[in-house]
Amino acid sequence: MKKEKKEKLVIAGPCALESKQQLREVALMLKALGVNHIRASLWKPRTSPGWEGTGAIGLSTLLEETLAYGLVPASEILSAEHAQLAVQALQRYGEEQAKMVLWLGARNQNHLEQKKIAKILASGPKAVLLMFKNPMWEDERHWMGIAEHLYSAGFPMERLMVCHRGFYPGKQANPIGLRNLPDFEMAMRVKAKSGLPMLLDPSHIGGSSQNVISICQEASQYDFDGYMVEVHTNPSVAKTDAKQQLTLAEFEQVLKIIREEAVLETTTKCSMQQMAF
Ligand code: PEP
Ligand code: MN
Repeated sequence: MKKEKKEKLVIAGPCALESKQQLREVALMLKALGVNHIRASLWKPRTSPGWEGTGAIGLSTLLEETLAYGLVPASEILSAEHAQLAVQALQRYGEEQAKMVLWLGARNQNHLEQKKIAKILASGPKAVLLMFKNPMWEDERHWMGIAEHLYSAGFPMERLMVCHRGFYPGKQANPIGLRNLPDFEMAMRVKAKSGLPMLLDPSHIGGSSQNVISICQEASQYDFDGYMVEVHTNPSVAKTDAKQQLTLAEFEQVLKIIREEAVLETTTKCSMQQMAF
């Protein structure tokens, strides 16, 4: 299953957009690390009622603070209305600049709504990519079905990506307390069957920063085309998913694993030690 080394798409940033300042800080940090795709979700579906994101009000901040600096913004959308708002906001930018990654989250399993979203985005700016995550429950057919629904609504394959974020653990054994259980083999099957790029979201699988790092290590055995990782400048005060958001230092560690530099570094260190002997 292991592959040759290739460049991976990395989307990183906070779970949710919280403020202009927060976005600016993380954007600068990502740019310095050569990461050009920044996530900061506007709409946050929650398990229990609570802060639900900035909503549409944050859309102009998200675009203004990223596109002008050559970064591609990314957010989850939950409805056709959200897709419409994103397209309208992007249309104020030229075709060259109007880039965004929008994704359908694991909880968003209404196929009728998915098709409406696909239709709206298919006729929007050409550089807008649509990603869909696996459903919460472990069902390969249903996961593949999302791709079929999106195609049937006229969404082009070249602008579509998939993301694995693990499955609800239920009563399954879960010794390290993952938030969702990965099935890397299934993700690789869906990648092969759909012919689409497959990203991994280690954050919603891990549920804690330590687990996120371990999941990235484990996933490096598989042929993922990219990663979407939650990073916050100060995770302890994050308004959502505080436990799983990585600090800058942790993210740098993860980036080395993703870029396959971690092993290289150990090998270099070893051979240098050997030379010293
Ligand atoms: C997210 O990526 O912020 C998110 C809510 O993910 P999921 O749909 O995987 O729960
Ligand atoms: Mn999150």
